[in-house]
Parts: sequence; C-alpha cells; structure tokens
Amino acid sequence: MKEDEDNSNKLPDISDFYLNVPLYKSFTFNDQQRDALLKLYHFKGHIDCYCISCQQPSVFHTDNSVMYLNQGSNRPPSLVDENNRITKHKFSCSRNEEHQLFFFFLIHNNTITKIGQYPSLADLAAVEIRKYRTILGNDLWLEFSKAVGLTSYGIGIGAFVYLRRIFENLVEDAHQKQIASNGWDEDLYKRSRMDEKISLLRHPLPDFLVKNKSVYSILSKGIHELKEDECLDVFPIIKLGIELILDEKSEQLQREKKIKLASKEIGELNQRLKSTDSK
Ligand SMILES: [Zn+2]
Repeated sequence: MKEDEDNSNKLPDISDFYLNVPLYKSFTFNDQQRDALLKLYHFKGHIDCYCISCQQPSVFHTDNSVMYLNQGSNRPPSLVDENNRITKHKFSCSRNEEHQLFFFFLIHNNTITKIGQYPSLADLAAVEIRKYRTILGNDLWLEFSKAVGLTSYGIGIGAFVYLRRIFENLVEDAHQKQIASNGWDEDLYKRSRMDEKISLLRHPLPDFLVKNKSVYSILSKGIHELKEDECLDVFPIIKLGIELILDEKSEQLQREKKIKLASKEIGELNQRLKSTDSK
C-alpha cells in the first residue's frame, strides 16, 4: 500500500474534497461508499471559496459538466470496476463566470485521488490569509503562506515549524513591549517555560493566545512526536487559533490607533475651546 493512502474508509465531505484535501492523498472506498462517490461525481451544488480574481470570498457554482477524460465523455462512471478513470470538474465564480476552478480526480483500484487542481490550494490559501500581511509584517506573512502552502502538498510537520515560529514571534513581540515596563523581571522571564512566559505577558498578549497557550505545546509535539498525517489533521484547528490571535492583535492595534487619534483631536479641540474662551 502506498504510504499516503488513507485506509480509514472515511471519505471527506464534498467541499473538503475539492478545497482541503491535498493532491495525491488517496482514499480507499468500499461498495457501500459508491453512493458518496457518485454524489461527488454528479455534484450540482455550490462551494464557498476565495476567488483569486475577485480577491474576495465568493460562491462557485458547478455546471455539472464532469468530463470523463480518458473513457469517452458520455459513459456514466461505474467507479468500482473501471480503473484509471480521470474526471474533470469545473466551477464558476458567481460574480464572473470566467473566474473558474478546476479539479481532476483519478479512480484506480478502489481508491480516489485528487491529481490536479487550479488554482492551487496554496494560491487559494494565500488570498485568504492576505489580510494578515500588515499585522505579521512581510517576512512572517511569507512564512504563514509557506505553512499553508506546505499542507496543500501533504507536508504537515514542516508546516508546523512555520506556525511555531509565528507563535514564538508573537510572544517575543509582546516581550519586547514589556521589557522596559516597571517591575518587569527579565531573569524570571528567561528562566520560564513558554506557558509561564505567556502568563507573564498576559497583558500585552491577545486574550485568545493566553487562554489557549496549549497551542504552543501542540505545535512542539507536532514537530517532535506527531506523524505527518496527524499534523495535517490538526493543522486547520491550529491555523484557526493563530488567525484568531492575529485578528485580536489587529483589533488591539486598530483600537490603540483610534484612541491615539481621539486623544490628539480632543486635546486640539480643548486648545481651540480654551483660546475661544480667552478671546
Ligand atoms: Zn470571481
């Protein structure tokens, strides 16, 4: 059996099959699962996905024009008894039907494998996380993109390395802010483990990070103990956690900016009112 073959007999949801399953990951199916596969083949619904042309979330509809590339276009798929069947699935953006997504699947020896897609999962994900560029800065944002890109090629442990660097960086950022504050004990900080460091930095750090500091130990565990597939399985949850931390940090910065602006304008207004009073 191939190393990347999933023998759990659990097929992904249809939209996961299109948008989250990495290329070349094979799923074995049994006779009872033929119906689920036929649903994928004849899917008439829509999928929610970022459109890289519109540069925003969109709804993509399929025209159900599944093509059977190598066995005549009109033959219905029998799935189990025909090997080397390749199908093409096309979806169009609801804003502009020239914005399209393409997916290719191969059925062989009772397995289904996604063997192609355009745009790539990495490109779709890069659009989705573009909003974090400002908050992360260019270098870290590129690392975040690499983490997401690696998972689209089935590389989980490598992706965890990048996410851990982002996590450590967020903590270090808060540390640098705190270092000059009154009563800060740098020696204690240096001696502390990461979960203790996070507790020491609970004020500048986003709440979500402080409450979910176990994310760091999961990331570390992934690098040292979890298997490639286990990292891939938990990656979406950890990524969501990092995004929530970034969202909160972004809100914090927006708030600080507004407070600064409001204080400045109120100060100026007071000055103006004072000078009017003195006239
Ligand atoms: Zn579009």
